[in-house]
Amino acid sequence: MPDQSILVVEDEQNLVAALKISLEREGYRVYVSHDGVSGLEKARSLQPDLLILDVMLPSLDGFEICRMIRRESNIPILFLTAKGEEIDRVVGLELGADDYVTKPFSIRELVARVRGILRRGLSTQTQSPNSPRQLSVGRIEMDLDSHSAVLDEKPLYLKPKEFDLLAFMVANQGIAFSRDQLLEHVWGYDYMGESRTVDVHVRWLREKIQSDSGLPPRIITIRGIGYRLD
Ligand code: CA
Repeated sequence: MPDQSILVVEDEQNLVAALKISLEREGYRVYVSHDGVSGLEKARSLQPDLLILDVMLPSLDGFEICRMIRRESNIPILFLTAKGEEIDRVVGLELGADDYVTKPFSIRELVARVRGILRRGLSTQTQSPNSPRQLSVGRIEMDLDSHSAVLDEKPLYLKPKEFDLLAFMVANQGIAFSRDQLLEHVWGYDYMGESRTVDVHVRWLREKIQSDSGLPPRIITIRGIGYRLD
């Protein structure tokens, strides 16, 4: 059992208590905070392996915390969201969150997400140094070590998940993947996730990488299946 710690920032005391019990049962060290300001302080001082953030919090909301933490670290962040527009902001803003669950959610579902995120973190740390670290397709070059990408010899700015998705598709160019397969490989879910997340990221990537002249690479939608990079 890996020794990993999680900070839960959530003001609903009953939910916090249930999460703490369930996550500790999985072997994680769990810290909690009930408001935004102390949550941010604890995130900085404890340096947990995962941050679980409610959106609506006293004193400082989850979006603000996420924005501040992202300037300082790449710690995985999982949002707990309540409403539709919150989800759009989590998925749609330049927040760099890793995942979200919508309230009300089952504790089992949340624990499965946590496990997926943390396991993916471990596997990237232990990745073999011999696997190819430079990828290219058409006008794009990617360097996995420096986490940088170039399009037409100019820097290509990608959010963390956009980078991971593009790297996966470039490494597997020409192969069609279903949304669930992309979720599993890129987001690390071990079950059916929310395929809308994939669609949104594909849309952003297209806006960033596809040229008006139709030059490759292009992300092709395969009806009834998913996506393929050509
Ligand atoms: Ca709340």
